[in-house]
Amino acid sequence: MSDFRSDTVTQPSVAMKEAMMAAPLGDDVFGSDPTVNALQTMAAEMLGYEAALFAPSGTQTNLIALMSHCQRGDEAIVGQDWHTYRWEAGGMAVLGSIQPQPVANQPDGSLALADIAGAIKPDDMHFARTRLLVIENTVGGQVLSAEYMQAAAELAKSRGLATHIDGARLFNAAVSVAQEDGSDPIATARRLCQGYDSVSICLSKGLGAPVGSLLLGSHELIKRARRVRKMLGGGMRQAGILAAAGHYALQNNVHRLAEDHLNILTLASELRRVCEESPLLKGKVVVHSPNTNILFMDVQPDIAQDLLAYLAADNVLVTNGYHQAPSGQMVRIRWVTHMDVGDKDISKAIQAVSAFSNPVNGGHTIQ
Ligand SMILES: *Cc1c(COP(=O)(O)O)cnc(C)c1O
Repeated sequence: MSDFRSDTVTQPSVAMKEAMMAAPLGDDVFGSDPTVNALQTMAAEMLGYEAALFAPSGTQTNLIALMSHCQRGDEAIVGQDWHTYRWEAGGMAVLGSIQPQPVANQPDGSLALADIAGAIKPDDMHFARTRLLVIENTVGGQVLSAEYMQAAAELAKSRGLATHIDGARLFNAAVSVAQEDGSDPIATARRLCQGYDSVSICLSKGLGAPVGSLLLGSHELIKRARRVRKMLGGGMRQAGILAAAGHYALQNNVHRLAEDHLNILTLASELRRVCEESPLLKGKVVVHSPNTNILFMDVQPDIAQDLLAYLAADNVLVTNGYHQAPSGQMVRIRWVTHMDVGDKDISKAIQAVSAFSNPVNGGHTIQ
């Protein structure tokens, strides 16, 4: 099976499991699990924050951040496509009594600074209190530059807002920038976070840990966050067994994200070539340019269901959804590379699309 559905499907490696087995454990609700504490300290130092908090998921670290920054009736500015707005079951509204103020995403994934400024409410009893700006990086696999990140943080600060980064894949962004300018990925990650009050990082995506996310911020914020985590049921006891995997992931799996980025470039260019050469697919497929480890391929609906069935039958797993393109509705297929898909899987995926696109070779037949 070649599983391109998400970088969340990665399995812990043998070495990671050994680190988990060897970890000294305590009770983290008492704050006395040495492995959790070591992970939190290490992550905070890595990204230039005072403190950190380990939690079961990125959805939870985001919600903890929102509820630590905002009170009931406060408002958070988010992107229309942000995970915090669209993909977290409305948690900030349901559980935090926080009003989301969505802003349209630009084609590069960012929010226009003028739109952010325009969404900030004046201090008037008719309005919710605008309290927080949330930025996501990477967003749909796209990297927001350090320059943009700084500009957005400065705008928020100048208007008295707190700032949070949903950095589920922040290290993919950092590694991508580092691939381009030769900088150190860790230093670049720190630069991307500079000026933000908090950031949430997923350990269970491309970094390869089975479970866990981190929220980083000031001592004061993390103290509030600890209470919110308890309230949400995220206080875990011998959590060091999981934190050990995260510690291993931060130590060993950041730099290698570059391989996933190279793999997806190969996948994109080969898929583009196959589609271009195929009478069946030519003009019916748009292969977008990947920035990090996520590739979108928009396929016309008349052919998409057959292609998806063909891939599934060949054990090539992808996800899909509908996408409103300027030219009409398309089926958007998402490919994600990660440490558990290697060269063989990339070849197999290309081979499968190629076989589908070429009926002469026993692939797809047009009904
Ligand atoms: C995956 C992800 C999260 C957190 O997801 P969990 O599955 O709850 O860990 C948050 N934000 C973004 C942008 C993500 O991609």
